[in-house]
Amino acid sequence: MSTKTFYYRCRNCSLIRPFTGLVEVCPECGHDWLDLVYELDEAAQSWRYQLQQREPTIWRYFELLPLLDRKNIVSMGEGWTPLLPSENLGAMLGHRRIFFKDERQGPTASFKDRQASLAISMLKEHNIKELVVASTGNVAISYSAYCARTGIKLWAFLDSNVPHEKMREVTLYGTEVIKVSSTYDRTKQVAAEFAHHRGLFLDRGIKGLAAREAMKTIAFEIAEQLGRRSGTGWQSPDWYIQAVSGGLGPIGVWKGFKELFDMGLIRKIPKLAIIQAAGCAPMVDSFHKGLEVSEIVQSPTGIINVLATGNPGPAYTELRRLVLQYGGAFVKVEDEASFKAMRMIAQLEGLSMEPAAAVACAGLIKMVQEQVIQPDETVVVNVSGHTFPVEKQILESEIVRSHTRVQQLDRHIVEGEESVPTPRSEIPREGLLTALERLDDRVHDIAIIEDEPDARTLLRRILQYQRKYNIYEAEDGASGLELIREKHPDLVLLDLMMPGLDGFQVLDQIKADKTLQNIPVIVITAKDLTQADYRRLAGRVESLLQKGSFMEEELFQSINDVLE
Ligand SMILES: *Cc1c(COP(=O)(O)O)cnc(C)c1O
Ligand SMILES: [Zn+2]
Repeated sequence: MSTKTFYYRCRNCSLIRPFTGLVEVCPECGHDWLDLVYELDEAAQSWRYQLQQREPTIWRYFELLPLLDRKNIVSMGEGWTPLLPSENLGAMLGHRRIFFKDERQGPTASFKDRQASLAISMLKEHNIKELVVASTGNVAISYSAYCARTGIKLWAFLDSNVPHEKMREVTLYGTEVIKVSSTYDRTKQVAAEFAHHRGLFLDRGIKGLAAREAMKTIAFEIAEQLGRRSGTGWQSPDWYIQAVSGGLGPIGVWKGFKELFDMGLIRKIPKLAIIQAAGCAPMVDSFHKGLEVSEIVQSPTGIINVLATGNPGPAYTELRRLVLQYGGAFVKVEDEASFKAMRMIAQLEGLSMEPAAAVACAGLIKMVQEQVIQPDETVVVNVSGHTFPVEKQILESEIVRSHTRVQQLDRHIVEGEESVPTPRSEIPREGLLTALERLDDRVHDIAIIEDEPDARTLLRRILQYQRKYNIYEAEDGASGLELIREKHPDLVLLDLMMPGLDGFQVLDQIKADKTLQNIPVIVITAKDLTQADYRRLAGRVESLLQKGSFMEEELFQSINDVLE
């Protein structure tokens, strides 16, 4: 399959258009919830018979993922996690058909790796270089890893309850961490304001396309794995159970099963069990009150911060509709029960999971005991994340360094909110924004003129660890010169061997132009320089680095020598 066609459809006005660029809102009515629609028949043909040989990642389902070109895939082996039958818990509960979908076995040990892989691949495909995300921890960790691999600069806004260990891991990847002294819901708003103000791409979580589409792969895998076990090709379970915060997982998983159903590969769509921690259970409470729109938990309590979405918005309305139409349950469990389940499953099954994941298991136990789940029903529980083993001592200094700034920002944000009573829609100039601006104290513009995309990306990613650079790129000499004339950068990083106007000629022109001749130039080249070459460069460039044999520090040293 060379070209792939799929469509987006607006939830509000039903407009359908082919997906070609990264749409976020409906071009007709501005609604911000779009669904993706695929050519299912074609995919069904190949999935029926040819899936076995494919790669053991989410990308085996490429036809139904919203990436146009395989070459943009950013993968670290996410997905195709084991479906483990319960060895002892099931026997204890008198229930023989319990399976654990072991999502701990992703590259960063939570099921957010699926989302990160697809989201970052899509950003790569649409040439987006900087991203803002709000997170209770795991999304930030996973996005950080995939962004680091891709050379995308990430700004992660974390609420103040995110455990130290998780912040530390995010920092390790080189992500810019902004800790907001407030709830997760408020943190999301701050991140959105920041992204809007800076003109940066914002990950919209459940409203974005990547997250829901990525979570479908959990359904595809479960059906494929259950089918293999029973030798029937594809098979759906009776229940899918998950600990829920924003609701991405179950909404995406449902869509996955629905697509398999529409492809004729499975015969029924499983019931969804939405499990929430009692300290923040707006969906469960709203459902039991019969509300169509979720109530909001203003200040989540309990200690399972990963699940602290107090305002689930349209995700609740969607899940309620699905549960009413296809069956399912909304269940809440006390933290005590979750910790008990955590210990129990570690001891009975050998699965050590993070408290958020244990919420699902506590829900499972409760539902089996209360006979919401029948003994002959097949149940799949998402073990969504690992207890994270972090090398405390090694990483401690790193977080301390970045924390000094983070803590200061906190103070500004809090002051800003208290002292400037501005309406929500307006961004307070003083306080919050000044604080955010301080974060973005980029002072120098650097132009990279380099024809090899990989070399350009490498330079960009080395540089963007330092917040203080604005980076511009040009892919040949002519457009490089144009860029220099337009931006008047503080520094040019110049390749020598380029088609058309080469680096020497670019340098000649810079030096011949009175308005440009003072811009410092650092040459980064793979060329074996001759004596004649050296003479052409002598006295006209600040330094010379040999491609493939300089370390980050040397580059920074050269740059600092010029700029500081
Ligand atoms: C994100 C997360 C959840 C909740 O995900 P939803 O967005 O509500 O589907 C549950 N467990 C873990 C470990 C998570 O990281
Ligand atoms: Zn619309």
